[in-house]
Amino acid sequence: MELESILLPGVDAKRPLIIAGPCSAETEEQVMETARRLHARGVKIFRAGIWKPRTKPGGFEGIGVIGLPWLKRVHNELGMYTAVEVATAVHVRECLAHGVDILWVGARTSANPFAVQEIADALEGVDIPVFVKNPVNPDLDLWIGAIERIHNAGIRRIAAIHRGFSTFDKKIYRNLPQWHIPIELKRQIPNLPLICDPSHIGGKRELIAPLCQQAMDLNFDGLIIESHCNPEKAWSDAAQQVTPEVLDLILSTLVIRDMTQTTENLTALRRQIDELDNSLLELLARRMRVSEEIGTYKKEHNMPILQEQRYDEILKNRITQAEKMGMDREFMKNVLVAIHEESVRHQQEIMKQ
Ligand code: PEP
Ligand code: MN
Repeated sequence: MELESILLPGVDAKRPLIIAGPCSAETEEQVMETARRLHARGVKIFRAGIWKPRTKPGGFEGIGVIGLPWLKRVHNELGMYTAVEVATAVHVRECLAHGVDILWVGARTSANPFAVQEIADALEGVDIPVFVKNPVNPDLDLWIGAIERIHNAGIRRIAAIHRGFSTFDKKIYRNLPQWHIPIELKRQIPNLPLICDPSHIGGKRELIAPLCQQAMDLNFDGLIIESHCNPEKAWSDAAQQVTPEVLDLILSTLVIRDMTQTTENLTALRRQIDELDNSLLELLARRMRVSEEIGTYKKEHNMPILQEQRYDEILKNRITQAEKMGMDREFMKNVLVAIHEESVRHQQEIMKQ
């Protein structure tokens, strides 16, 4: 995908790119006070929701367009860049008219191709960075589709924001991280910057620091974190916001592992892994061929593919053996079930012939 850098003049190119600000703009004082304190701690990009997609009616649905001049003040008086969520073409036009610097598409919106297309159409011919949050449901193609719609409108400064995936069980996370999904996104579009939103993944302040560290260890490019001058009194997402001072503390204790050069030891170990993977593949291929021969035998002797007792024995014995070798039961069960499923599929093909 043809993309351009999302870095704006004066913004540090060092990882992580930081975007911070309240969940919602509430009052001019709250916006200015939060922005001043973030600015004093080196934050260059200020986020604030103007229109809030609330799950239930009756919640605070955002201050609306009257908040946009407050963000203009943040930009003019503090020199910070501003970022706002857009969900409709009207939002896009209002943001552009008020000089907002960065737009982002929220999780509920990127789940809806009609809405994303409407935003994309409103962006035709505009040059502004657009960040696309993952859809609420764990559907990578839907996320990529939203990014492509924005890209097709001619936008080149695009980033993806990982904010976790909706789940019924909210015991630990408000939205499950499912890190493998953003990792797969990065594999498919390697030049797309990835920003993590620990606030909406965690849903509670205590989880922000560990989530930021995990994102850094997974090579994310940036972090978007909700920060409020008085979090307990926030009109939305109070439990997950931190003061600018706490944010500063969290960021200053982050360990950024940026070493890309590999040492000789690591190279040697990786060579061993490559060889072992090779052996694993060869063994699996051989196992599959034997399984096919068994399939042919079963067909000739009119036997069914599945012999439950044999399958059960294999599972039990192998898992016990694996445990003795220091491996995890659940892990081994998953591997064996996957191999068995594939064997059955091969044998089914043979039966059909
Ligand atoms: C937000 O950033 O305040 C927000 C509404 O996030 P999301 O779209 O990830 O739910
Ligand atoms: Mn929020």
